[in-house]
Amino acid sequence: MFSFSSEQLALEWQGLLQRFPLDLVERVGGVAARHQTALADHFYACLLADSAASKLISHEQVKTSLHNSLCAWIARVFAVRAGDDLKPLVAQQKHVGQVHARIDVPVHLVLRGARHLKERFVQFIHDDHVFGQAERLQAATLVHLVVDLTMEIMGQTYSSSHDRYSRTQEAYRLFAVVQNVASERQRQRAALLDWENKLMFDLAVGQTAVLLPRIGASEFGLWFRHKGAHAFAGMDEVEKILKAMKAVDETLIPGFSRQDDTPMERSTRLRELRSLSQAIGLGLEAMFRQTNELEAGRDALTRLLNRKFLPVVLSKELAYARQHDTNFALLALDVDHFKSINDTHGHEAGDLVLQQLAVLLSNNSRAGDYIFRLGGEEFLMLLVDLDEESALRVAENVREAVANEPFDLPRERKLSLTLSIGVAMYDGHPDYQQIMRRADQALYRAKQEGRNRVAMARD
Ligand code: GH3
Ligand code: MG
Ligand code: MG
Repeated sequence: MFSFSSEQLALEWQGLLQRFPLDLVERVGGVAARHQTALADHFYACLLADSAASKLISHEQVKTSLHNSLCAWIARVFAVRAGDDLKPLVAQQKHVGQVHARIDVPVHLVLRGARHLKERFVQFIHDDHVFGQAERLQAATLVHLVVDLTMEIMGQTYSSSHDRYSRTQEAYRLFAVVQNVASERQRQRAALLDWENKLMFDLAVGQTAVLLPRIGASEFGLWFRHKGAHAFAGMDEVEKILKAMKAVDETLIPGFSRQDDTPMERSTRLRELRSLSQAIGLGLEAMFRQTNELEAGRDALTRLLNRKFLPVVLSKELAYARQHDTNFALLALDVDHFKSINDTHGHEAGDLVLQQLAVLLSNNSRAGDYIFRLGGEEFLMLLVDLDEESALRVAENVREAVANEPFDLPRERKLSLTLSIGVAMYDGHPDYQQIMRRADQALYRAKQEGRNRVAMARD
């Protein structure tokens, strides 16, 4: 895609400023500095009136941090003079464009905010006594041109980041069916049957309705909601299965609590349940039939996910948590003193240990979770649909399981090993790099505090 270089954009910015008298540029900068807070307030008040935007930035912490950056942005963008080096400022606009793409904020919302910002800014210029009658028009033009130029630069990086993101997303969607279609199909069919058997048993022994196993929370349900529905997006069966699951959980199962059901009504209810469950199973079969085997995207040594799909998976789970008001945790894991294992037993032994570790991590996760190998002896686990307490428990279990596991080395030797783990909970921030940074900082603290331990991210 064609785009202007930073040098060109910096020159353009400079040319723009040169068209105005220096003291006018400086006085506009003064207005920006004096009213930055009021301008940022106005910008967010307008955005929060839009329901889609307010969902994206509703979190208190996000609001404060965005508000602060916007204040700084307003002051900085209007503080420059034609003679300054404008390349850092161009770079900043590009960075903002990338963040917008990562958060997936719709372009029209940014432009809408900019329009309101310009309008209020011009009003401040009119109310300010530092401008004569004739200067006001000039000052207003300057404000419009500068804000429009920043939007243009942001837009340029936004579209290229977004294009790249969409291509990876498409690749992931296909990939997420997992690399082995045949075994995933078996596994999910079995998981579905498991749920049905458990439900039938509980009904037979007279379990109360609130305690009956819900399909949405079953292994199958977790997998389908987080991975299956995404992987098979676009196929008719997806909607059908989601609808059937909803009907089972929200209508049929609660219906079993009715005391005045006749045996006839009860058996009708059971038959409906059976037929919905069968419909789900058939839909699943149909979806798998339409899918081909896919490779790529897995780490060759451990078969875990590699970095490639990390942005897509994280953005997807962020959006899911936001829309469904659920929580998730990110665990950053790093083997302690791994270098000494390589040094003592050789690189091959190290590889063997990493493979066993990958299996152990998989055994400690559920079907809806994700495990990445980020490289070397560093891993990332994304645990879906759980609260802080459960996340800490999983992390602690993983740490303990690793510490207690005798790892196999060549020639039947054994080795023990420990992990440090940093845990960060989703906190409503729409930028996934934030939660990764928090998990990473927690991991760093776990290392500092002596390794072989779990540390929770602090705010
Ligand atoms: P710390 O407790 O601070 O994490 O110490 P560490 O030794 O684990 O950390 P460091 O990052 O210094 O060393 C990581 C080592 O992992 C360095 C490298 O030799 C090894 N390594 C990285 N990738 C691979 C791999 O694919 N296979 C093997 N066998 N070793 C690897
Ligand atoms: Mg490391
Ligand atoms: Mg290490």
